[in-house]
Amino acid sequence: MARRKKIYEGKAKIMYEGPEPGTMVQYFKDDTTANNAEKKAVIEGKGVLNNRLSEFFMTGLTQIGVPNHFIKRLNMREQLIRSVEIIPLEVVVRNFAAGSMCKRLGMAEGTPMPRPIIEFYYKDDALGDPLVSEEHIIAFGWAQQQDLDDMVALALRVNDFMSGVMMAVGIKLVDFKIEIGRIWENDFHRLIVADEISPDSCRLWDVETGRKLDKDVFRRDLGDLADAYTEVARRLGVLPTNVTHAPKPTLIN
Ligand code: UDP
Repeated sequence: MARRKKIYEGKAKIMYEGPEPGTMVQYFKDDTTANNAEKKAVIEGKGVLNNRLSEFFMTGLTQIGVPNHFIKRLNMREQLIRSVEIIPLEVVVRNFAAGSMCKRLGMAEGTPMPRPIIEFYYKDDALGDPLVSEEHIIAFGWAQQQDLDDMVALALRVNDFMSGVMMAVGIKLVDFKIEIGRIWENDFHRLIVADEISPDSCRLWDVETGRKLDKDVFRRDLGDLADAYTEVARRLGVLPTNVTHAPKPTLIN
């Protein structure tokens, strides 16, 4: 097979040149990092699950008219996506307090937000992805006012969709992060949801028990991360076809 050109390798994914202009292949690795890559591990099967889960969420978004980069899944670990110019911001939506919001504002984990709170973090590993304000974003030219309005609208639609899908399977969407990219059509651009949507970038709690089913399991050593992601995939009816936990067939006499 011809070698593909690697465009970029990140902490959890690799991007390759796609088969046609304007496309890329996104490969999901098993590598897992936390705390700005201070903590690292390889969790077998995580990439396969995230490839499937991101396909599931992006396909659902397409069905309700939320534009995103997903074109089709190619195999267990790869999907074909539209290439975008990534806006260098992580867009976080919070429905309940957790993680850095608890630390920053001294809130108890799980405190409900009066309304979904949207935050922007500047994507810069060396700086530890600092929280930035809309003033910073506009003044430093990371996005324009119209982009900001569009990003907020996209983030809220993703939140409503994801909250509903997860609640239907007994899981509370506490918070999540998305990345947004520009696609250019002549001199105009529009914004679409890019990167991935998976338990790596969401906080998901079981409604009944409060069990964490997201990357906090790894961040806080709460158990087996692949088990938690498998549980999410199982509840959503999304499991890789050739990974089965069914017992071996036995002969019936
Ligand atoms: N998040 C992410 N990538 C990052 C930082 C955060 O996907 O680089 C997600 C994280 O999984 C959580 C949400 O964004 O669902 C909010 O994260 P938070 O600001 O609380 O930071 P954390 O506690 O994860 O460092």
